[in-house]
Amino acid sequence: MSISPRAPVLRFAPSPTGLIHIGNARTALLNALIARREGGTFVLRLDDTDRERSREEYANAIVEDLAWLGIAPDVRVRQSDRIGLYDDAASRLREAGRLYACYETADELERKRKRQLARGLPPIYDRAALALTPDERAALEAEGRRPHWRFRLEPREVVWHDLVRGEVRVDCASLSDPVLVREDGTYLYTLPSVVDDVDLHVTHVVRGEDHVTNTAVQIEIFEALGARPPAFGHHNLLTDSSGEGLSKRMGHLSLRSLREAGLEPMAVAALAVLVGSSESVRPVESLDALGALVDLARISRAPARFDEAELEALNARLLHETPFEAVADRLGALGIDGGAAFWEAVRKNVSRLAEARDWWGVVEGPVAPAIEDADFCARAAALLPDAPFDAGTWAAWTGAVKAQTGAKGKALFMPLRLALTGRDHGPELAGLLPLIGREKALARLAGRTA
Ligand code: GLU
Repeated sequence: MSISPRAPVLRFAPSPTGLIHIGNARTALLNALIARREGGTFVLRLDDTDRERSREEYANAIVEDLAWLGIAPDVRVRQSDRIGLYDDAASRLREAGRLYACYETADELERKRKRQLARGLPPIYDRAALALTPDERAALEAEGRRPHWRFRLEPREVVWHDLVRGEVRVDCASLSDPVLVREDGTYLYTLPSVVDDVDLHVTHVVRGEDHVTNTAVQIEIFEALGARPPAFGHHNLLTDSSGEGLSKRMGHLSLRSLREAGLEPMAVAALAVLVGSSESVRPVESLDALGALVDLARISRAPARFDEAELEALNARLLHETPFEAVADRLGALGIDGGAAFWEAVRKNVSRLAEARDWWGVVEGPVAPAIEDADFCARAAALLPDAPFDAGTWAAWTGAVKAQTGAKGKALFMPLRLALTGRDHGPELAGLLPLIGREKALARLAGRTA
């Protein structure tokens, strides 16, 4: 994507009607990372004009969930604070003859639609309300009807160069004039979004491809308000493994639940950004490194499949590569104080950070050893080198045990692992043994819980 030399302004504009999920995170991250990379501004705009469905708890959750991903907006606005701006814009559109009052009820509109479909016509609003005389309008209002307001589209093809999709053409003659203002005077998202994008000097709108038609309508609105439209890019949407779009109903894919499930924010971020692009899904160490990989022009046109197993695998790969300093505080919070040596010993064996606690339990004890051959364990114990143990102790010890007993391979290592850890699998013992220490090792080899 070529960004204008002036600092760009991008925004993420969720409506606070639910928890954001990994698909929303894709939109948020694309915008935030481009803004960050280009030294621009990232705006969080809460689209809360639907007062019935918007909730403060969701507004707070969105901010917290973005913070968990590492995103702090530079600017935060909410549409409910900005109604005056929308009223001004609506007045200007009315004066220009672009916003007109309509009185049809939902039932009447539905009947019209059915008649059109029955006659093989596209179900487009017939603009009957445009022909109403002032007297007819007054009569309808006297009946107690309140108007809703539609934007009169120019019946032309709107064309833009999409940052993802290349040239896009939408024929506005085939669309219904969109309702911008509801009967109760509240705004649908369409007009406020344009007004805010103008007011906040938004330069690039990056959003899901479900908004392509909106963009054509909104470009007409920008122009009707005398403003230059921003650049638009419509990314592919994430679908679940059966190809269905993700929705707010899929609670387990909300950022909140992914966080509660113990997934790493950088794994969630890397998957959200890289899936369905020309980059392979892989661990990325920081948001800046991820931002460097974003190229809107190389996002696929096909839907991007979100696969939970892929996220799990990515989470594990990320942890396997994570240096101690990056997790030191969180290990401390889990009650683990084994330092870098412990992390180095176990990181390849955890797919979620909290699993490190299990291995810390193995180091600290008490561990009930599993002894299959007490005699073998006793002979091995007698060969255990003196303290202090170090990274070479395991090799030296098992070399001596092998030489004494003739046991090798699995027959050598498995009884020792079972005795020392009580488990038949786990991190390499070369790393664990120095952490377990001589005293506990001897006790466990002797079959005592220690
Ligand atoms: N509130 C809209 C949505 O969540 C915003 C779309 C946009 O980015 O303009 O779909």
